[in-house]
Amino acid sequence: MSWYSAISRLLLLLAISAALGWMYGYAREAVIVALLGWIGFWLYQMRRVLVWLNNPGEMPPDAYGSWGELFARIYFYQRKSSQEQARLQSSVEYLEDSFAAMRDGVLMVDKQGAIKWLNRAVEPLLGLRYPDDTGQTLTNLVRSPEFNEYFLARDYTKPLQYLSVGEGRAIYLRVDITRFGEGERLLFIRDVSSEVRMEKIRRDFVANVSHELRTPLTVISGYLSTFLENSQELPQRYVKPLEQMDQQAQRMENLLKDLLWLSRIESEQREDDRDLVDIRGLLQELRDELDEAYPEAQIVLDIETDDKVYGDYRQLYSAASNLAINAIKYSANNHPVTLGWKAQDDSLLLQVRDRGIGIDASHIPRLTERFYRVDDSRNSATGGTGLGLAIVKHVAVAHGASLRIESKLGVGSTFTLVFPKRH
Ligand code: ADP
Repeated sequence: MSWYSAISRLLLLLAISAALGWMYGYAREAVIVALLGWIGFWLYQMRRVLVWLNNPGEMPPDAYGSWGELFARIYFYQRKSSQEQARLQSSVEYLEDSFAAMRDGVLMVDKQGAIKWLNRAVEPLLGLRYPDDTGQTLTNLVRSPEFNEYFLARDYTKPLQYLSVGEGRAIYLRVDITRFGEGERLLFIRDVSSEVRMEKIRRDFVANVSHELRTPLTVISGYLSTFLENSQELPQRYVKPLEQMDQQAQRMENLLKDLLWLSRIESEQREDDRDLVDIRGLLQELRDELDEAYPEAQIVLDIETDDKVYGDYRQLYSAASNLAINAIKYSANNHPVTLGWKAQDDSLLLQVRDRGIGIDASHIPRLTERFYRVDDSRNSATGGTGLGLAIVKHVAVAHGASLRIESKLGVGSTFTLVFPKRH
């Protein structure tokens, strides 16, 4: 609007000056003078804009017409953007305040791996200085190779837990990393020493109780066996109860054996006793053992690869054996149990397949819990301990594998240990 009126004002000015000039015989000169005056006025206004923009916070200069409108608009956008900036600043400060007050260590690291911001809690955990270490490369300051390897590998799907040893103290740290923005990373660091200690106490307790119970149980079983060996000397009415006692003592022994084995797997360090394990040989050995222990079962080997897995032979054997014994226990005799070993894409699959009773889908997510049973009455008949799949799950985790369970009631089940292939 005002731009059109500025044009019309210019045209009016030119017309008047041309008319006045014409009256005195200098029409062209008068138009030139008027134009120069107009340009001079515009230059003057432009200068005022620049001077004003160089002094932020000042009110806009007074002006009329299109210049006045221009000043008003610039002033409006200026105020809007500074309000927006203040709002953003206060959100950033709010976030920084809340991170600063956290008991967990919080670190922000940029794309290049330099520390952008850290809170005070990081100081004792990673041995950094608050806030002086801002701007430094994180991996140059943290001494732990485990931390640095995890940080640089850029795979943060699982948190890192590691033992940090430094000046007279050893603490367990848990590190969670989230990516944000354009390659920036947000790190949460927590001291989990007390959780780790509690977990160790729990494990030790279970292991100690199991261990202590074994001796009296061995004595009881020993006497029971002796009684039963000489059962003809006993009054007949005692034989059946003694047989039942012997059976239950056997179950208890199996339970203690499984509990001890489970706590041993749990406490074994991940990389201890690791070797390349020949799964073909392992499954052949297992088949021979099962053929002897369960002569009526049909065990079939289905081995398609000679790939080996880096791991602990005894643990892998116990996992495969638990799966195979379950498959035998929960199938009819004339249904074969297949022990498979194959390569698929980037994985190696150790598979135990049966055509047995199957498991309802609702139970599958809970099967690996300790003592979880699908049906108690059925299990007392099969004499299981309820710890078999918990052991399998643990072995899987300790080998970086996952346990996949597929099953259909009345059709059969397939339990697969999925190992990532090493390149
Ligand atoms: P258990 O010693 O009772 O067999 P597990 O932990 O090995 O304990 O198995 C948990 C439960 O999962 C079993 O009680 C059984 O109900 C079910 N299960 C495991 N394997 C199979 C299978 N191959 N077919 C059917 N059910 C199974």
